[in-house]
Amino acid sequence: MSGPNTSYDPVEVAALDPAAVDAAVEQALAAAAGASTLEELKAVRGAHQGDKSPLALANREIGALPPSAKAEAGKRVGQARGRVGQAFAARQAELEAERDERILVEEAVDVTLPPGRRPMGRRHPIALMSERIADLFTGMGWEVAEGPEIEAEWFNFDALNFDADHPARQMQDTFYVDPPGDGLVLRTHTSPVQARTLLERGVPVYVAAIGRVFRTDELDATHMPAFHQVEGLAVDEGITMAHLKGTLDRLAAELFGDGITTRLRPSYFPFTEPSAEMDLRCFVCRGEDPDCRTCKGTGWIEWGGCGMVNRNVLLACGVDPDRYTGFAFGMGVDRALMFRTGVSDMRDMIEGDVRFDAQFGMEI
Ligand SMILES: [Zn+2]
Repeated sequence: MSGPNTSYDPVEVAALDPAAVDAAVEQALAAAAGASTLEELKAVRGAHQGDKSPLALANREIGALPPSAKAEAGKRVGQARGRVGQAFAARQAELEAERDERILVEEAVDVTLPPGRRPMGRRHPIALMSERIADLFTGMGWEVAEGPEIEAEWFNFDALNFDADHPARQMQDTFYVDPPGDGLVLRTHTSPVQARTLLERGVPVYVAAIGRVFRTDELDATHMPAFHQVEGLAVDEGITMAHLKGTLDRLAAELFGDGITTRLRPSYFPFTEPSAEMDLRCFVCRGEDPDCRTCKGTGWIEWGGCGMVNRNVLLACGVDPDRYTGFAFGMGVDRALMFRTGVSDMRDMIEGDVRFDAQFGMEI
């Protein structure tokens, strides 16, 4: 470190030699021009503008000069330092402008690019199908009713005229809820909603109940231990089987297309009398292809059960069966979905794979 030259040492004063000052300026200008980044400029700046740079040292020597030489030396060194300072400032401005330009290009955002999309969840086709059916009935002026999935045995069987020893009550068909003595079952059909509705709302009544039901079936391509039914119940004065047939035909046409009707075959259920199996006109061949695989050439597909509400059910629910009559029907929603969409394995419906659901779109 060089201190004030109190002894007028001619060697120290050489730092103020005009040629030495010019050389220091030239070196500083070359260094500034040679820096290609702001980091490089900062690195070389200290050597030419810092406390230990040749011009800073020369400036310090001025104080040791004889008074007659101070003014000229001060002017020379001052101008030199000014040139160096301007050169570095100018280079700094250039490099900053280049950096800003580069950032604008490198970090530019193309607002026309499509945004990244997250895969969306989908509603289950059974839920969509259920809503479609509910919409149809509300459109006809019906109400939509609900009932519990854990149901009293009385509503599930007794109120519906099942004998105490009816085979459907047995453990191989019905899930009983522990403890067995409590008389609770997982409902085996949506028909208990009929009894609940009659007791709660009275007559006349027009309700559809859509929901999950349970039976002790093994899970395979065409059976599930939990599946969905739609139940319809209409009780009013003067209701006949013709009203039942008309309602079923309307439902069939809405779900499977114009011209698709139903037919009734005599059958037996404890809670309806007379009772009928309901067949659906084959929506693939419409009964015109003896080789049709969907209906096996019969022209009809089994769809569900129906009938006129049994007098005993009306009595159990406090309805006068001599004044009121009614019809009821129930069919599988899962089965209707299979018909409509060609799903051949029911297990696809319960595996929860969103790729399955996605095929059915998002109906609103
Ligand atoms: Zn067919």
